[in-house]
Amino acid sequence: MTMKKSPLPLPSGFGHGTAGRRAGRAGISPDGGPPARTPAPSPARARQRFFLPPLLLVLVFLGQLALGPALRAADTLVCASYPVWLFARYLNEGRDYYKVELLTNPATGCPHEFAPTPADLNRLTKTRILVKNGLGLETYLDNALKVAPTDVEVIDASRGLPTLSMLWNRLDFDGTMGPDPGGRQPSQIPNPHVFLSPRLAGQMVANIAGELSRLDPGGAEHYAQKNAAWELETARLEEAVAEFRQTRRGYKIVTSHGFMDYLAQDLGLAVLADISPLGSEAPPSAARLAALGRLVRREKISAVLLDPEADPGPARTLSSEAGIPAAIIDTSTSGPGDPPPDFYQRVVMEDIDLLSRMLPPNREPPPAPDTQGAMLPPGNPRPVPLPGLDGEEE
Ligand SMILES: [Zn+2]
Repeated sequence: MTMKKSPLPLPSGFGHGTAGRRAGRAGISPDGGPPARTPAPSPARARQRFFLPPLLLVLVFLGQLALGPALRAADTLVCASYPVWLFARYLNEGRDYYKVELLTNPATGCPHEFAPTPADLNRLTKTRILVKNGLGLETYLDNALKVAPTDVEVIDASRGLPTLSMLWNRLDFDGTMGPDPGGRQPSQIPNPHVFLSPRLAGQMVANIAGELSRLDPGGAEHYAQKNAAWELETARLEEAVAEFRQTRRGYKIVTSHGFMDYLAQDLGLAVLADISPLGSEAPPSAARLAALGRLVRREKISAVLLDPEADPGPARTLSSEAGIPAAIIDTSTSGPGDPPPDFYQRVVMEDIDLLSRMLPPNREPPPAPDTQGAMLPPGNPRPVPLPGLDGEEE
């Protein structure tokens, strides 16, 4: 099958510094006012105008052929995971020209292990537009898409986003992880949990809005307005992130399966280790738990933060033995089947509130600003064996 690549042209007015990039091409005055008066056309010019509309129609038709299927009324737009479903639903609200469906169950959580049912696959056979998080979050998609129509248009919401590798800030990488289907090294595997950072979620919303206005040109203005509304509604969240970072940066944490890396980066937190070994959600061995306990004491790690699907048992053990708090952080990967439009903002705001209660403001003035919140050099730090796992003791 062939999958159409999305060239992702962002129309004017769509988020993050792209506003007005294409202004002028659409033939609309920048302030939306009436076009300037033009002198009466000469007969030759009039003949040109006479032929222009059919020519335009042909160009539009050819453009549609080149761009793939446009969204039509009564089409279904299928989303491959909960966060991008929230984003696509938000953008569609008030347009309601087509249906927006979630392929997974709303209670699925992170869809790394999701296996579609025959009914799910059946829905894929009917969709022409699919929105995915990308970066390998929806591991089931490669196989599932084999049943999709050959002209399915895939909107990759994370396209062009700056990513962190799965090793970001990790001190616990012991050099082993499960086989990667693409044969990549751990340092080459991007962490797919971009959606939990409000900053990157805004870019994902802008990406989807850009693609939707290409596929549904009649709704372009609507998507631009919704994208601007998203930015406005998320501003309070971004302020909370900035305040947290200003007052609490520098705390070190242990998490589960890298779910929080991008949010942690925004908040100025350093994720030094995960409960389970890299690339695995299997429970940690007793030796690993003991080694994590030593790492917590040596590095003065302040909290254990789990996703809702992680086994709380090992985290509880680590928390009580090392004397640090543990909590579950909502990943925004599951929720009600009919969430309110601001569901994402509420979830992340509650996460920040919880973290603020767990991690008190720094008594000392915060350290000098660093790059993007990385406590270690940004990028991919050299893997350091977890003390104790290689027979090494402190
Ligand atoms: Zn995950």
